[in-house]
Amino acid sequence: MSKKLLFIIGTRPELIKIFPIINYLKGINYTNYKIVATGQHKDLLESYWNVFNIQPDYELNIIKKGQNLTLLTSKAILSIDELLKEINKEFFPDVILAQGDTTTVMAAAMVAFYNNIEFAHIEAGLRSFNLQHPFPEEFNRKVASIVTNYHFAPTTIAKENLLKENINEKKIHVVGNTVVDTLNYFVENKILENHNFSNANLNNIKNTTVLITCHRRENHLNLNNLIEAITELSAANKNLTFIWPVHPNPNVKSKVKNSVLNEKHNVIITEPLEYLDLIKIISSSKVIISDSGGIQEEAPTFGVPVLILRETTERPEAVNLGYSKLVGMNKQEIINAFNNFNPIFENTKNPYGDGRSSKRIIETLISNQ
Ligand code: UDP
Repeated sequence: MSKKLLFIIGTRPELIKIFPIINYLKGINYTNYKIVATGQHKDLLESYWNVFNIQPDYELNIIKKGQNLTLLTSKAILSIDELLKEINKEFFPDVILAQGDTTTVMAAAMVAFYNNIEFAHIEAGLRSFNLQHPFPEEFNRKVASIVTNYHFAPTTIAKENLLKENINEKKIHVVGNTVVDTLNYFVENKILENHNFSNANLNNIKNTTVLITCHRRENHLNLNNLIEAITELSAANKNLTFIWPVHPNPNVKSKVKNSVLNEKHNVIITEPLEYLDLIKIISSSKVIISDSGGIQEEAPTFGVPVLILRETTERPEAVNLGYSKLVGMNKQEIINAFNNFNPIFENTKNPYGDGRSSKRIIETLISNQ
């Protein structure tokens, strides 16, 4: 009997990074898997299921307006546990898989542990060594690691972090980051090349672009510094178009949408972009200013530097190679780095993965039957 795999997905980056694993399973005709969407990013994810040609088998509804992290966590745990009870006869999993560091991941790991089911953690071992940055993600991934049976670490640095926490080396598999598998799929099949922007705002851009994204909780209070920096930079660089897809988090959305940036001719403030639109913008950008984890990993494929809006990063590989730079949320630091940071990319070998992570993950799981 082949192993029953249950994927639990909550947010946009989780779906983007789990997609190539499911695609790999489809390619080898392995059908013994099901997908749960917890609904942590319900609206944001809607278009992605179609782009990736994946549909969830089970949908939960863990988000309620105004809910704090305690309620979200308890709801996620209860909902996943109840689902397991419901599907007990038709599909009781041998392994639960989740990706990253969200509340969904921590809850999935805990429920797997309580039900004596093996847990596979994709993108294991990322650490900033600061529980407040990123909050609550550093906590979530540490909790998940305690109960993980298969730690799929993207890099050797991630593996070393796990070893320092006394994780058994036999349980750690350095496989690369599946985010590169996803990118390669769309690049190698020429889907990106032939993609026309679905967002009408982007169709008439003639200039080189600068992409901006910002969503981390710890940056919400300093958002004005970033808005001021982009205001100055866009005034000083009229030959560039600044594109800021705004995260739907209410703390971010209203501040950016109601800012002076809206009146600038070379600034486009827009809704979150569909995956292929976003990747196309990354590939044509001179530089990216972002606190996103996924974007830090995607940018090196296209030889685009990232000014990271954080004090520390759990993805130090690109910074160590000199491709990206930590600038925090300080206005002057952002402006100085924008003007002076021009790294040369020796090659566009992505330090986070080689595009074969999904294959390694599935072979590890399946050969362990
Ligand atoms: N992304 C997207 N549209 C956007 C912004 C980001 O498709 O408007 C993608 C991006 O390419 C990356 C992922 O979403 O793969 C990153 O998500 P996010 O920044 O929300 O989360 P993080 O990676 O920081 O956890």
